[in-house]
Amino acid sequence: MQSTKPQLAIVGTGMSGLACADSLGEYFEISLFDKSRGLSGRLSTRRADAHAFDHGAQYFRAGTELFAKWLKSFETDGHLQAWTPRHVHFAPDGSHKVRRDESSKLVFVSGMSAVGKALLANRPEWKLHLDCAVDLVSGHSGEMYLHRGAERFGPFAHVVLAMPPRQVQALVPPNIAFADALDGTKMLGCHTLMLGYGEQEAPAMDWECAHFDDEILGFAGVNSCKPGRSGGFAIIVQTQNQWSEAHIDDELDTISAVIKQRFESVTGITTNVSGYDRVHRWRYASTQKPAADPAQPYLLDEAKGLSAIGDWCSGSKVESAFLSGTALAAKLVDSDTYLGD
Ligand SMILES: Cc1cc2nc3c(=O)[nH]c(=O)nc-3n(C[C@H](O)[C@H](O)[C@H](O)COP(=O)(O)OP(=O)(O)OC[C@H]3O[C@@H](n4cnc5c(N)ncnc54)[C@H](O)[C@@H]3O)c2cc1C
Repeated sequence: MQSTKPQLAIVGTGMSGLACADSLGEYFEISLFDKSRGLSGRLSTRRADAHAFDHGAQYFRAGTELFAKWLKSFETDGHLQAWTPRHVHFAPDGSHKVRRDESSKLVFVSGMSAVGKALLANRPEWKLHLDCAVDLVSGHSGEMYLHRGAERFGPFAHVVLAMPPRQVQALVPPNIAFADALDGTKMLGCHTLMLGYGEQEAPAMDWECAHFDDEILGFAGVNSCKPGRSGGFAIIVQTQNQWSEAHIDDELDTISAVIKQRFESVTGITTNVSGYDRVHRWRYASTQKPAADPAQPYLLDEAKGLSAIGDWCSGSKVESAFLSGTALAAKLVDSDTYLGD
C-alpha cells in the first residue's frame, strides 16, 4: 500500500542526520543520502587488512538526559560500552602524568561507525542512497528535488542538509534565510595518523589514551584496546586543529613525517611499523565558531522547505550533533506545514 506520510530527505548520515531520521520516522517517509560508502560520518572506522582505526571521533560523552536516554537501547543491545583507558597528559618535554578523568568515555562496540548499521537494522523502511554525492538541490517548498549528475530524486516535502556548513553552502540558494548564519560559521581541520603494528612490534606502554600540551599533537589512543575491536595493535595520533588548519593543503607524506617525528620525540614510542601507516585529512573536524543559539541548534528556512543541522550549529561534539538533529525533528513535527492536525 502506498504510504500517506510526507516524503523527507536527509543528506548526510552522521550523528545529526541519523538522530533526526530516528526522531522523524514515525511521521515522514525517510530517504537518506550520503556521499560515502558507509553510514555514520565522522563517527568513522577504517578497516585495513589486519587492523582497524577509529580515525574520526575517539569517544564521546552523554551530558544530557535526552542523549543518555537515546543511547540506552544501544547499550542494552551490546552496541555501546564505556571505555576505561589509562589516561595521561604529556608535557612538551615528554613527562606525563595520569589524568584524573572520572566522566565516562563512551564508544560504539567494534568501531565508532557501528552506530549507523545498528540503527538501520531496526529501520528497514528507510530508503538508503550511499555513495551518492548530492550536487544540487532544486524545487520549491513542498516539492524539493535532490540531484546527482543527471539523476534526480524526489519530490520531497522537506530536505534536511546534515553536513558541515561549507558543504551546505554549496547546495543551498544564496538567498536562503540562514545564509548569514552559514557565513559566520568556522570549522577547523585535523589530521589523523593511523599506525598498525606487526605482531612482534607492539610497544610497551603505560597508557592507552593521551592528551598533549603541544603545538602539533592533540590526542593519541591505542585503538585496539577499545571494547570489541578486532585486529592487531593499533595507535591513532591526532593533531591540534590550529596546526592542521595552517597545513591543510600540505602533502600527506610531509604531514605524516612531521607527526611521527614529534610523536616519537615526545612519547618515545616508535612509529616505524610494518602493518599499516596512513594519514587522513579532515577538512572539517571541529567547530571554532558555531552557527546558532544552543537553545535552537538548527537552521531552518520554512518557506523553502530546507534546513541544516550538524554539530557546528552549537558545538563540536557527537552530542552537539545529536541535539541538533533531534531539535530540528521536534520543530518539524510541531510545524503545521507538513503534518497538519
Ligand atoms: C578527528 C576527529 C576527532 C573527533 N573527536 C571527537 C571526540 O573525541 N568526541 C566527540 O564527541 N566528538 C569528536 N569529534 C566530532 C564528532 O565526530 C562530530 O561532532 C560528529 O560526528 C558530527 O556529526 P554530524 O552529523 O554533525 O556531521 P558528520 O559526521 O560530518 O556527517 C556529515 C555527513 O554528510 C555527508 N555529506 C557531506 N556532503 C555531502 C553531499 N554533498 N552529499 C551526500 N553526503 C554528503 C558526509 O559524507 C558525512 O557522512 C571528532 C571529529 C574528528 C574529525
